[in-house]
Amino acid sequence: MSPAAAAILLALLAVRAVEIAAALLNLRHLRPEIPAEMEGVYDREAYERSQEYARATTRAGLVRQGVDLAALCAFWFGGGFQALDELARAWGGGPVLAGLIFLGALLLLSTLLSLPFAVHGTFVLEARFGFNRTTPRTFVLDRLKGLALALALGGPLLAAVLAIFAHAGRSAWLLCWAAVAAYTLVVQFVAPTWIMPLFHTFTPLPAGELRERIERYAASVRFSLENVFLMDGSRRSSRSNAFFTGFGRHRRIALFDTLVAQLAPGELVAVLAHEVGHYVRRHVLKGTLLSIAHTGAMLWAFSLVSGRQWLYEAFLVERASVHAGLVLFGILLAPAEAVLGVALAAWSRRNEYEADRFAAETTGAPGEMVAALKKLSVQNLSNLTPHPLLVALRYSHPPLLERIAAIRAVGNA
Ligand SMILES: [Zn+2]
Repeated sequence: MSPAAAAILLALLAVRAVEIAAALLNLRHLRPEIPAEMEGVYDREAYERSQEYARATTRAGLVRQGVDLAALCAFWFGGGFQALDELARAWGGGPVLAGLIFLGALLLLSTLLSLPFAVHGTFVLEARFGFNRTTPRTFVLDRLKGLALALALGGPLLAAVLAIFAHAGRSAWLLCWAAVAAYTLVVQFVAPTWIMPLFHTFTPLPAGELRERIERYAASVRFSLENVFLMDGSRRSSRSNAFFTGFGRHRRIALFDTLVAQLAPGELVAVLAHEVGHYVRRHVLKGTLLSIAHTGAMLWAFSLVSGRQWLYEAFLVERASVHAGLVLFGILLAPAEAVLGVALAAWSRRNEYEADRFAAETTGAPGEMVAALKKLSVQNLSNLTPHPLLVALRYSHPPLLERIAAIRAVGNA
């Protein structure tokens, strides 16, 4: 093993060790007694079920992470990257075709590896806790559509990146960045109206008290009701949620039908107000710009190491190439990405507080937001007492009790 390989492997193991520690600490952090805030919302039995759910998902997550790491090591030290590179070059079609074959094969392998976990997660784990409503047919169709979409959208972009790096010389990373940034913006822009309807059905809110109340609220903050939709989340899961996505005229708020079935109209207005808060504070747009900046930094760093022999040696690959370089650089960078992920999760939690605050202030009814969050948390069996390390690593939303405390603070101010 080369010194670079040893360093990369050590860094990967260190990241895994922190993740495992967070998962185990989180299990020990589960408390048998119901927090005072949730007395009367959770009954004893449901509360125990939420903890059992946390244990079951943690166990499944640990197995998955272990298998992923073992598979990567087996492929790496078994000479998989070199074998695949030879196979891709054997077609004799130049750097772009070889790259597409190489990357396509890796995508296929990782999809196959993740498939048993997806099946288990949906049809065993989620089903055991009463969440799953996905039929095998929907499951298979979702996967096929996802793969077709990845090929149709990712294929041409990848071909462009490979061609630019093969021919554009020193400024290749800059050209690639421009191409990827433009592409990301266009795809994000049309995704809510062109891509998401491939998976879900969006319908306008039906007439009635809810629509009237939402209309009144939306008008008060100048958000168009034309951008509010009901989504058939119940076709896949009994979980309830809402989200805001897109920007410009394609922006939309989706309320899951499961959410509408569970919350009172006032609570739904509060949830909608939270999503409008994400829009008003431009969280989606900022997130997209952040991701574009991130891509630029990655491409620049890639341009610095893509020709270095030590990178290929570390992964037992004989010849340097853009396609192998991209993948190996991705593995090399994974620990740094994990650190960045912590910062991004913190940013996302800050956005959630901002959207909650917006909802509490503009509806003037923080109590409705608190009531909605409590109901959602029971319905989704959220862990009420996650360990702070796990929150820091992974939570895109603040833990429920902290969110409620923050909303109460707005209400009293
Ligand atoms: Zn939110």
